[in-house]
Amino acid sequence: MKCAQGGSFSNGELQRFGSIELNPSSGVLNVGQGLFEGLKAYRKQDGNILLFRPEENALRMRSGAERMCMPSPTVEQFVEAVKATVLANKRWVPPPGKGSLYIRPLLIGSGDVLGVELSPAYTFLIFVSPVGNYFKEGLAPINLIVEHESHRAIPGGTGGVKTIGNYAAVLKAHTAAKAKGYSDVLYLDSVHKKYLEEVSSCNIFVVKDDVISTPAIKGTILPGITRKSIIDIARSQGFQVEERFVDVDELLEADEVFCTGTAVVVSPVGSITYLDKRVSYGEGGSGAVSQKLYSVLTRLQMGLIEDKMDWTVELKPA
Ligand code: PMP
Repeated sequence: MKCAQGGSFSNGELQRFGSIELNPSSGVLNVGQGLFEGLKAYRKQDGNILLFRPEENALRMRSGAERMCMPSPTVEQFVEAVKATVLANKRWVPPPGKGSLYIRPLLIGSGDVLGVELSPAYTFLIFVSPVGNYFKEGLAPINLIVEHESHRAIPGGTGGVKTIGNYAAVLKAHTAAKAKGYSDVLYLDSVHKKYLEEVSSCNIFVVKDDVISTPAIKGTILPGITRKSIIDIARSQGFQVEERFVDVDELLEADEVFCTGTAVVVSPVGSITYLDKRVSYGEGGSGAVSQKLYSVLTRLQMGLIEDKMDWTVELKPA
């Protein structure tokens, strides 16, 4: 789908995966006008396909587009394009229990710019790929390291939207952490340098005495759709959930820590390295709270339990 600055998107068409035409002077390459989304399609036992809350991705892309001064597809255009792309790729949706189809919508400035200026034209596109587990650990607990030198976001910046530049900011620490054998990096806030923010690709939760805490949304972390869903699921399961400033020192006392995201689903954290300390949780096993929440979320996403929240969208391949 394409549109001009200030305009609205015309309906697009399906194309075989391949290169797209982009001028060297395009807005996305020169001033970083680019947003993306990530969601998954799961195969049900009856062969139908389930999408999880696609309209939330549409709304998040729209709020990101506002921050990045870009036009964006309507919620309906976004969701219809996701449905059409998934149905056109239905043979790539793995069988139940064998993974999912990852869906990557992209919104980019595709018109020419020279100075610091808005792209005169935009392209919205979607590509898909079958995926298994995000971390090589699979469902086993992951190991994080707290980053002290760099930050992924600053107050007033773009950390709260899913713009491509945010991922450029984490590449150095992320690559260094991976090279040292860690699964991912945990970022602290850039002002006080002591409050938890998030991991490179997911949100974080800390459990202490059955109270679940997670950093509040305040513009420097991504408002994760899995985060929001897990908060609702946890509350419906009787847990107290607090969205607040979570001090990094609370990691030392926590019973359990876990991450949430479309790619990582609910990933238990086995250890966190913080300065020269390494804190371990649950003797390397995944904790009861994260296991419970993982189980409810994934059964919902795969259509194995009733969707009382009306979160899933069912597609019936012809
Ligand atoms: N934080 C960051 C930085 C992410 O890239 C993601 C993945 N989109 C998340 C959190 C989790 O968001 P969601 O649950 O919507 O996938």
